[in-house]
Amino acid sequence: MNAVANKDAIKKITTHYIDAAFVESHGREVMNIINPTNSEVIAGVTLGDAEDAQRAIAAAKRAFVDFGRTTKEERAKILRRLHEAFSARLDDLTDVMIKEYGGTAVFSRLIIEAAANVFLATEKALQELPLTRSWGTTTVIMEPVGVAALITPWNANSFFLSAKLASALAAGCTVVIKPSELSSLQTQVWLECAHAARLPKGVCNVVTGRGDVVGAELVRNPDVAKISFTGSVAVGKSIMRDGAATMKRVTLELGGKSPNVLLDDADLKKAIPAAFVIAFLNSGQACAAGTRLLVPESRFDEVKRAIVDAVSAFPVGNPADPKTAVGPMVTQKQYERVQSYIRKGIEEGAEVLVGGQGRPHGLEAGYFVKPTVFVNVKNDMTIAREEIFGPVLSVITYKTEEDAIRIANDTSFGLHAFVNGTDIKRARRVASQIQAGRVAINGMLDDQQAPFGGFKNSGIGREFGTYGIEAFLEPKAILE
Ligand code: NAD
Repeated sequence: MNAVANKDAIKKITTHYIDAAFVESHGREVMNIINPTNSEVIAGVTLGDAEDAQRAIAAAKRAFVDFGRTTKEERAKILRRLHEAFSARLDDLTDVMIKEYGGTAVFSRLIIEAAANVFLATEKALQELPLTRSWGTTTVIMEPVGVAALITPWNANSFFLSAKLASALAAGCTVVIKPSELSSLQTQVWLECAHAARLPKGVCNVVTGRGDVVGAELVRNPDVAKISFTGSVAVGKSIMRDGAATMKRVTLELGGKSPNVLLDDADLKKAIPAAFVIAFLNSGQACAAGTRLLVPESRFDEVKRAIVDAVSAFPVGNPADPKTAVGPMVTQKQYERVQSYIRKGIEEGAEVLVGGQGRPHGLEAGYFVKPTVFVNVKNDMTIAREEIFGPVLSVITYKTEEDAIRIANDTSFGLHAFVNGTDIKRARRVASQIQAGRVAINGMLDDQQAPFGGFKNSGIGREFGTYGIEAFLEPKAILE
C-alpha cells in the first residue's frame, strides 16, 4: 500500500536537542512519518548524521565534568522535576503515541503513565542505593561511568527514553539519546517535557537519525563510555562486537519468545483472557509478550473452546477507540513480517484456530493484521522459535510438569515467562525452574523496582530500580 500525503497535516521536525537547546540538523536526509492507522504521511523528519552525533557527545562530555560530581540529593531533585514535567503532559504524550505509532488508547495511556512515574521510582531506588561502602581503611565509591548513549526502539518510545534517562541521571551520567527514527513525533513531545524540567546544559542530548549512521557513531566514539540499548538481537550483537574496540560497557535488552505455562489446575476463565492480554500486549509488538501458550494435553479441547469464546473481547481496530485491544503494526514492513510468519506457520503444519493471513475486513487502509492463534504447534516450528513481534499466539501442548518446564526453557531467549495455576506453591516451584529474567505468576504484572532483562539471547544486564542505576556505575576502591 502506498503512503498518501495529507499536506495540511504535515509537520516538519528539523532539529535535535543539544546543550539544552533545539538546534538545526546538520544531516539533510528527510524521512516521512506515516500514520499506521490510515497510511497517511503526517510528518517529515530531518535525520541527523555523524556530525550531529559528535556535537551531542561533545556537549555530554563537557557537562559530565560537573554533573558527574553532583550529590544524590541534587540528582533526586532533577528526577522529581522530570516527573512533574512529564505528568503535566500525559494527554499529549498519549495522543501522539496513538497517532504516530498506532498504540491502542488504553495501552498508550498506561505506558505514558509509566514513562512519567519511572522518574519517581528511580528516585526512590537512588535513595536506597548505597553509593559508598567502607570497611577498615578501605572505601568503595560507586562512580558514574561517564557519557552514556541510550539507543531505543519504536514500540514504547517515551517509556524507554524515560526509563533509561532516569537510571543514567540517577547514577550521575550525562547522555546522548538515539531514539528510533520512526518515533520522531513522539520524541518531539517527550523532549518538550524534558526541556521543561530545566536539566543542566548538556546533561541530556537527543539526536534522531538512522541506526547505521547516528547509532554507529555512538558505538564507535571513544568519548562514549556506555551503551544502553533496547532493540533487536542482531543489532544488540553488533553493538557488543563494535563497542569492544573502545571497551564500551553495554546493557542490552533484546527480544523474547516468552512461555506462558498453564498448569493443569489453572482457572481458564481468568487464564485465557490473561493469555490474550499477555500475548497481544502492545498489539503483540512487545518484547515481553507471552507468545507460546503451554497447555496440558488433558485440557487442550477445553482451552481451544475458551480461546474461541474469549477472542471477541480483543477486537482489532482504530487505536484511538478505547474498546480496541489490537491496533495496527507500526509500518508496512512490520505488517509484512507478521504476514510472513503466519504464512510460515501454516506451511509448517500448524493450524489456524482464529485469525489468519491478510487484513481484517474494513481495516484495509492501515497496517492491521488479524490477531491470530495457532494450535497444534510444535516447539521446533519457526513460529515457536522466532520473535514475530505481532499479535500471533502459538498453543503448544505438554504431558507433564517436567515436560512443560523443558519446553518453556527450550528457546534461545529468556526475557520473560508466565505461570498460571491455583496451587500457588506449585506455580512458584515451576517459576523457579524457568530461565528468564522475570517470571509473572497469574497475570501480567509489573514492578518498576524489580530488575528487567534477559538470559541467553535476550540480552545482558538489567534495567529498573537499583539494578538499573548500578548499570551506569563503576566501583572505585580507595585504600589507605
Ligand atoms: P532495532 O534493533 O532495529 O533498532 C533499535 C534501535 O537501534 C533503533 O534506534 C535503531 O535505529 C538502532 N540501530 C539500528 N542499527 C544500529 C547500529 N548498527 N548501531 C547502533 N544502533 C542501531 O529494533 P527495532 O526494530 O527498533 O525494535 C524491535 C526489536 O526491539 C524487537 O526485536 C524487540 O524484541 C526488541 N525490543 C526489546 C525490548 C527489551 O526490553 N528486551 C523491548 C522492546 C523491544
